[in-house]
Amino acid sequence: MGVAASEGYAIGRLYIHLEKAEITVPRKAQDPDLETSRFLQARERACAELGVLYHRALARVGEHHSSIFKIHLALLQDQDFFLEVRDCIREKGVTAEMAVQEVGQRFFRMFEEMDDDYMKARGADVRDIVSRLLWFLLEAKDQQEIPWLPEGAAGILAVEEIMPSQTIRLDAERVEGVITRTGSRTSHSAILARSLHIPAITGVGEAFDLLKDGSMVILDGFRGKVIQDPDEEVLNLYRQKMEEYQRQQKVLESYKGMRAVTLDGTVVDLCANISHPNDMDEVLDIGADGVGLFRTEFLFMYWGRLPTEEEQFFSYRMVLEQMQGKRVIIRTLDIGADKQVPYLKMEREENPAMGRRSIRFCLENQELFLTQLRALLRAARYGKLSILIPMVVSVEEVQSVRKLLEKAANDLEQEGIPYSKEYEFGVMIETPSAALISDLLAPHVDFFSIGTNDLIQFTIAADRENPHVAALCDAHQPAVRRLIEMTVRNATQAGVRVSVCGEAAADPSMTRFLLSLGVQELSVAPASLLEIRHTIQSMNLSK
Ligand code: PEP
Ligand code: MG
Repeated sequence: MGVAASEGYAIGRLYIHLEKAEITVPRKAQDPDLETSRFLQARERACAELGVLYHRALARVGEHHSSIFKIHLALLQDQDFFLEVRDCIREKGVTAEMAVQEVGQRFFRMFEEMDDDYMKARGADVRDIVSRLLWFLLEAKDQQEIPWLPEGAAGILAVEEIMPSQTIRLDAERVEGVITRTGSRTSHSAILARSLHIPAITGVGEAFDLLKDGSMVILDGFRGKVIQDPDEEVLNLYRQKMEEYQRQQKVLESYKGMRAVTLDGTVVDLCANISHPNDMDEVLDIGADGVGLFRTEFLFMYWGRLPTEEEQFFSYRMVLEQMQGKRVIIRTLDIGADKQVPYLKMEREENPAMGRRSIRFCLENQELFLTQLRALLRAARYGKLSILIPMVVSVEEVQSVRKLLEKAANDLEQEGIPYSKEYEFGVMIETPSAALISDLLAPHVDFFSIGTNDLIQFTIAADRENPHVAALCDAHQPAVRRLIEMTVRNATQAGVRVSVCGEAAADPSMTRFLLSLGVQELSVAPASLLEIRHTIQSMNLSK
């Protein structure tokens, strides 16, 4: 059993993807000084990570067992190791990666050849720190090889962990389901799996070790259940369930293009969450009432480099034009925590979800932020744009963004580049702070968008990525409901529009609660939209 992260069934051959033992590294380099400084930077980041690991281990297993990390730190900071790497870079004209690998091999053999067992065992430690250094040098932590299935194969993929940047590149035609050891329902990888219609079970924990490569498995994405080597009876049962599910999906198809209206006449704007302009085909096909959340950070992750103003403008404009005058809410860059953009080289932090992420990062990196704001203002001419700011905790942040928007507009004006000031401006209510001061935020904005995923994790103090606290991450918790209620009340009093775009909006058991508070706009993944439309159409709010 694990966490049901993405609905659906899959029956097929299991492919367990293991990390590659060897990492291929580039060989030749032009500039030895640059390579040496790259090595030093990677070493600094590796040391910082080891420091964190040491303190975590110290708290959990005590000094004796955690001292291994101290040994690794000492090896990493060893002056001989550094000098040999530096000389290797200079003398052989190779990259830092190559030098680390070569010198690492030499050190490894040196330990291996020692008589003392304790010293012999240090060889494995050298290997460990070498791969840690290589991960940092290659920016590979989030860019590891995408866990593809073997050429031409289709089936169910089992991986230890899957990053959003890897999930987004999965081939949904061949990957029929995903099982991971870690992860939870509101992790961004799970959200992506749902939008890709790939059934997924995350956080299976130790049960992962029971999986056998090549075995036949059933994946039940509704119950979070994996059945390995099922007998005929169980197989038949699941074949029937699969057929029934497909039939239901067909029924939902009949809701395409309809409006979401309750039996007693409340009209709800049912919008779609997207992470890339490519998602628009499905959005148009089901007939969403708007785009309620465009998570632009995925563009930055997808391209693997900073998208230019022109490229961003083109993507935003495309979505706005395709929606033909319906509202499109584009959220500014919300990177950090599990949404890492390696080439931005953000500093590693112990609690990244509460660190310099999202709007905090953007306000500290104004050039990058201004590029996005300029692209948005230029795109505003092509449709009904709303600009949404993530992770807000204070009025001051909102004022700072407003000022930057003014600056972006003035610059465009002076440069004679066409743009529009016809857009709405809103903030995400996804921190308890924002919900608690929603009355103070309201006068500064046109709308609120409640992000229940982060709101829950920060209210309940339960990491949305951690499967062990997944049960606590529940939108029905009274504390969360109170914050939502307070936000909607403050918005209504101030005449500010309010929508809900977190995963709770896609949970049919939350729909009545949200609508009875007066929420008239929900935004959900396209894969969930028809089901919520069906739920709303079967609901009588006055009852
Ligand atoms: C949320 O936090 O609810 C939200 C919609 O934003 P994200 O899931 O992208 O963090
Ligand atoms: Mg969020």
